[in-house]
Amino acid sequence: MSIANVVRTAAERFGADLAVADGARSLSFAELSDRVHRLAAGFAARGVAPGGAVSVLLPNSVASIEVDLALTIGGFVRVALNPRVGQRDWARIMDDCRPCALVYDPGVDGAREFAAAAPVSVLIAAVDDDTGTATLDGIAAAAPARPRLRELEPNALCALHYSSGTTGVPKGAKRTHANRLASLRAMLDHVLAGTLDGPEPPVFVHAGPVIHTSGLFVLPFLAAGGKQVLLDHARPAELLAAVAGCRGTHTALVPTVIARLLEFGDAELTALRRLRMLAYAGAPMPVEHIRQAYHRITPNLVQYYGMVEAIPPLTVLGIAAHRRGMDEDSEILASVGRPCAGVDIDFRDGDVAVSDGQIGELVIAGPAVGPGYHDAGTRTDLGKSHRGGRLHSGDLGFRAADGYLHLTGRSKDMIITGGYNVYPREVEQALLTIPGVTDAVVVGLADPVWGQRIVAAYTAESRADLTEAELTDPELTDPELTDPELTEVEVLRRSREVLPDYKRPKSVHRLPAFPLTALGKVDRAAVARMLAPLTSRSVVAAPSRA
Ligand code: AMP
Repeated sequence: MSIANVVRTAAERFGADLAVADGARSLSFAELSDRVHRLAAGFAARGVAPGGAVSVLLPNSVASIEVDLALTIGGFVRVALNPRVGQRDWARIMDDCRPCALVYDPGVDGAREFAAAAPVSVLIAAVDDDTGTATLDGIAAAAPARPRLRELEPNALCALHYSSGTTGVPKGAKRTHANRLASLRAMLDHVLAGTLDGPEPPVFVHAGPVIHTSGLFVLPFLAAGGKQVLLDHARPAELLAAVAGCRGTHTALVPTVIARLLEFGDAELTALRRLRMLAYAGAPMPVEHIRQAYHRITPNLVQYYGMVEAIPPLTVLGIAAHRRGMDEDSEILASVGRPCAGVDIDFRDGDVAVSDGQIGELVIAGPAVGPGYHDAGTRTDLGKSHRGGRLHSGDLGFRAADGYLHLTGRSKDMIITGGYNVYPREVEQALLTIPGVTDAVVVGLADPVWGQRIVAAYTAESRADLTEAELTDPELTDPELTDPELTEVEVLRRSREVLPDYKRPKSVHRLPAFPLTALGKVDRAAVARMLAPLTSRSVVAAPSRA
């Protein structure tokens, strides 16, 4: 089994059916295979070295899929540049991996200027930009129809995945063909299981960036003969319209996008009732949002967990588990599910295994784990580490008695306050039980007395949106506080009821929304930067030693 085989077998089985479409063009399975084979041969003919790194600066589009597949089956190493992060970050990544080629879309903001100065020997534009640069169409037209491609080792690299950190030298996690094929298998067996057959043909709507979590569905949908529709940077309203318009059956979103969808009324959300799978991943999703999504969007929820260093899905909380979580076993909704076949996860304190129920670092082995970072031999600043074939993930969590895995946060986010270890996620989960709080982020800020002090940011719905029962329940709200908005005073007071002394935030701050990374996850570092100057003039709990 190889990725080239997946593309060719799909062409043989599903030939003229539509495989991929964006607003401007579409390709059948046969056309896609023909095109990616020609491009793979054409890149080599243009001088891209076998195994060479190729930077790719493309929005979600048919071109992004065909370039990904062509580079992969041609034996090149794809380095995706996120169109949203801008020239400075693209340059930092290119400095680190020194690609021999750049494929860019002149329509991306800043891409034309960036390409003109890029230190690469091969420049390829996705569409003609009147500069005489080679284009994908030109390269495909000049290449033979059925080129013989060289055989690739399963452990050959197919990509470097750079994380979106803004300081230091960016780190490129290596991904192999075997990693991608392991993901394909686990996606089909665990995430998509039981959802591909239905009254209508499966249609995956790529609403998030295909260079991140949405891209994990490219191979599974090819293998299954499903159509893929690419939206670029769609707003929630556009996503609703697209799912209705293209009869979408599957999509995958980060939790922040699902939270924005939940702001729509039930009538608008009916467009999503047709989904046979709504996957979420990439960050924790508040249990209350899972409940709302289940009831108001679709019960067909699937959560998975993974990271660029170990390709998702490592664990899955499937549709049946969500149903069980709603009906009888709500604890599992706060989990990331159970490990997929072949994924070995244990929990350690340093190199020592901790028992079930104890918090430790997730240490991962199996075919999903990548071979490490680009240039790892010469770098001393790489956080997540690979030791003895196992990935020390930097994520903390525990295995519950029922075998479900729970995350408590990243080790670098753990707060040490007054000598106690506090995991931001448990404080956040407690704050989310306060009626009206819609999301919470808890950070540790430097403090001369506590070492770090716990500070919380939250977003809240207007009290006008709370149910009458929630508003009048004296257990839940202070009847003397008549402010139509949930106030910081009240959240701080309520936090005392839901958290033990040493885990309580010293101050809480209401924000209109949380800053997000380019991948749509909550940017915790940016929240901490916002909170630092606010904490002196805000609602602050009286100091009390636990
Ligand atoms: P990235 O490498 O950018 O894909 O980010 C991976 C990190 O996102 C993981 O190490 C986790 O900290 C977090 N993450 C991924 N999936 C989940 C999930 N389902 N629930 C909670 N956190 C997640």
